[in-house]
Amino acid sequence: MSRKWIRFFTEGNASMKQLLGGKGANLAEMTRAGLAVPPGFTVTTDACRAFYSGEKLPDGLQQELIQSIQQLEGEKRAIFGDKSAPLLVSVRSGSVESMPGMMDTILNLGLNDETAEGLATITGNRRFAYDCYRRLIQMFGNVVRGVPTFHFEQQLHAIKKHYGVTQDQDLTEEALAQVIQAFQVVYKKQTNESFPQDVYVQLYAAVEAVFRSWNNERAKVYRRAHRISDAQGTAVNIQSMVFGNWGMDSGTGVVFTRNPSTGEATLFGEYLTNAQGEDVVAGTRTPEPIVTLSTSSPGIFQQIIEMCQLLEHHYRDMQDIEFTVERGNLYILQTRSGKRTAQAAVTIAVDMAQSGLITKEEAVNRIDISHLDKLLHSTVDEDDQQTLDLLARGLPASPGAAVGAIVFDADTAVEWGKQGRKTVLVRNETTPEDIHGVIAAVGVLTSRGGMTSHAAVVARGMGKPCVCGCEALAVSVSEQLLMVNGRTFKQGDAISIDGATGKVYAGETHLRQPEMTADLLTLLAWADSIRSMQVLANADTPEDAQKAREWGAEGIGLCRTEHMFMAKERLPLMQQMIMADTFEQRSQCLEQLLPIQRSDFEGLFRAMDGLPVTIRLLDPPLHEFLPSSEALLKESMQLEIDIHADLARKLEVKRLLGKVKQLHEANPMMGLRGCRLGLLFPEIYDMQTTAIVQAVQSARQAGANPICLIMLPLIGHVNELKLLRNRVEKIAEQYLGVNHGIGMGTMIEVPRAALTANQIAEYADFFSFGTNDLTQMTFGYSRDDAEGSFLNRYIEQGILKENPFQVLDEDGVGALLATAVQLGTQVKPQLKKGVCGEHGGDHQSIQLCQRLGLDYVSCSPFRVPIARISAAQATLRLRADESETEPLHAEGAKAV
Ligand code: ADP
Ligand code: MG
Ligand code: MG
Repeated sequence: MSRKWIRFFTEGNASMKQLLGGKGANLAEMTRAGLAVPPGFTVTTDACRAFYSGEKLPDGLQQELIQSIQQLEGEKRAIFGDKSAPLLVSVRSGSVESMPGMMDTILNLGLNDETAEGLATITGNRRFAYDCYRRLIQMFGNVVRGVPTFHFEQQLHAIKKHYGVTQDQDLTEEALAQVIQAFQVVYKKQTNESFPQDVYVQLYAAVEAVFRSWNNERAKVYRRAHRISDAQGTAVNIQSMVFGNWGMDSGTGVVFTRNPSTGEATLFGEYLTNAQGEDVVAGTRTPEPIVTLSTSSPGIFQQIIEMCQLLEHHYRDMQDIEFTVERGNLYILQTRSGKRTAQAAVTIAVDMAQSGLITKEEAVNRIDISHLDKLLHSTVDEDDQQTLDLLARGLPASPGAAVGAIVFDADTAVEWGKQGRKTVLVRNETTPEDIHGVIAAVGVLTSRGGMTSHAAVVARGMGKPCVCGCEALAVSVSEQLLMVNGRTFKQGDAISIDGATGKVYAGETHLRQPEMTADLLTLLAWADSIRSMQVLANADTPEDAQKAREWGAEGIGLCRTEHMFMAKERLPLMQQMIMADTFEQRSQCLEQLLPIQRSDFEGLFRAMDGLPVTIRLLDPPLHEFLPSSEALLKESMQLEIDIHADLARKLEVKRLLGKVKQLHEANPMMGLRGCRLGLLFPEIYDMQTTAIVQAVQSARQAGANPICLIMLPLIGHVNELKLLRNRVEKIAEQYLGVNHGIGMGTMIEVPRAALTANQIAEYADFFSFGTNDLTQMTFGYSRDDAEGSFLNRYIEQGILKENPFQVLDEDGVGALLATAVQLGTQVKPQLKKGVCGEHGGDHQSIQLCQRLGLDYVSCSPFRVPIARISAAQATLRLRADESETEPLHAEGAKAV
């Protein structure tokens, strides 16, 4: 007989998910593997699609159902609808991707007034038979006909009360007979028809109900959220019943092959004696831990252990298994990849690779990067309920938890920080002027701004916890008050934030610290042995460099020297330098800055001894180092009306205002910054170069091995680089001789640079793609403006798939990168190419960097471990693509 709509479990396998659904494919796979799966068959997703094109069961399906049931009758030596040996089945939905919201399983289908009696006779257990029947009437009534459960529960409750029992399993035969009668009355009243006595009517209705459940609201919403195609459809599994509620030698349970929260290689699960499937989940009785079976039924326990081993070996992953014991015989009803915590995921992957079950490559590939993110940051301990006083919820902008005293301005954060106090900077929003406060605080909380607001970006870069856009907060900086839902907090009050959840708590919470476990270190070492791209860090201070090295960075890909001038005691010197009217005045200030810069670089070389340190010369426009014109205007107005005002200060403010006005640009992003600044004020770059070169010299003299690269920002024309490189070379030669050993290269962050990369490569030892600026200039978006206004709308409306400042845009910016790589390497095959900036720590962007043939990515120190795994996954993906076989991806083993 040829069947069109149905496959028996014996005819399928795990690869047939599209046709059989996840559950069906897996039942087939287990059947083939020789496990004790109750026999049955699957109505395919094709049938579901056909159902939707005609709004009725497709032609021939009823015929095939009859034939298939007949085949099942032969196997089970029982007959569907027959009183003397009734065949009973379960009807289970099963879509391609596991999906909540589909129809609940119906058990015991095939029972009616007659077969229930038959079941009672052949089992010699009337109580059991009646129990099955009353469950069917309720389940069928509810899931197929939509009768609200409480109508049934009401009746059940009344009868239990009448018989003076509290537990379902204490109901007698007589009581259950009454329940059945009462349920049939409910059914009739609610549906205007009798509970179907024709078992085939039951079957057809159940199959149709599963098909219909594909299009219920819950399922549709879920599909939209997870981008699952509406056209896929669901399969229906029809399986002969096994009975966990047959008696005390029966039961049902769930077992994980390993502990899903710790990853420990011990069985983890629960078992309920004398119960049917859904009882475990329903929570009506408390199940026992699975290990109790080792004493109560050692034989079964041994079989379960063997079954778990077999399934783990077969699927090569931790499994979550549903099983039933019927009169001492073990049956398996479902297996799937078990959900697990981040910690467990790491431990299980390492264990499985060490025992040879999977390869190291697979272990690395199985790690979900978003999981890893959680592992590497502290979190608020949400189990510690007593201390939790949830105030509000904002956006989870930068993971990690922080507890500290509220401060409303950056200077206070710095001041209190010096006194050793931990602070959380609370503001409506942050600007570049608050940066020293962000550095000093343990966390940042803002009432406005999105995931990509200034505060969020800066905090993520520093690995500092941040909650943004918490609109329930009213922050008054001038009054130094924070108001939330009618409660008021002053400066100094304790507050806690969790940047992974976006939650804000009053007072101090207990924190859970991140752990670099031995397993994680092992996994990272494997990732290092696999990946082909280097992972460097963006670090501006020796402390950051040290941290980066501890987390496995192989050097510094970007040191932003401007941050060195932002620190409190240096800013005045920097401002003086900017304010200077003459070259001499400027040189004097620079002379004072020189030793400070030199010691910064010495610190960096110490922390990164033997590893490359890439230093970028000054990049931002000078006005960023001066107070804002608003602040100056305000001060000048106050000074104006204050008769005791200090005259010197008055003049100073006036001069500052003048300078700020002079430096004002309509569009600073495209104005006097980067190499343009270096060319107009060469003495600034000269000072920086001298400081770098002197630091190299002193490190070498001390016997260390500094590897130094100098990077020139914002080059758009080869002549800019030519001139600047020449100047830098001269200074290097002056201190270190012709063979100075210092690498010199450029940022590629202006589209013109990418398009003329062949010319530029002649003067560059390396290209570092500044993908933030390059994204701004390629899209023509100024990041702050875009993220502050239209970008979110663009993403909501699907104009852009992702924020291009978070995930590198492959088609546009990526094409420029590809061009630059190609043009650059044509001229200079050994040219080093990498990405610095936020994209360098983003999983998806790292995959693209690998495809583009880059040599390294550079990211914030805290993302280094993540980038190491990401880069390894990128290498594996590329290898798999190149050999044109299926990627060695977790999906292969994850069939459900
Ligand atoms: P879910 O996807 O909600 O777990 P299932 O189809 O797996 O739904 O079934 C619900 C419960 O019924 C599970 O505990 C399952 O083990 C049990 N069950 C399903 N089919 C049978 C069967 N043929 N015999 C006994 N129990 C079954
Ligand atoms: Mg299940
Ligand atoms: Mg830049």
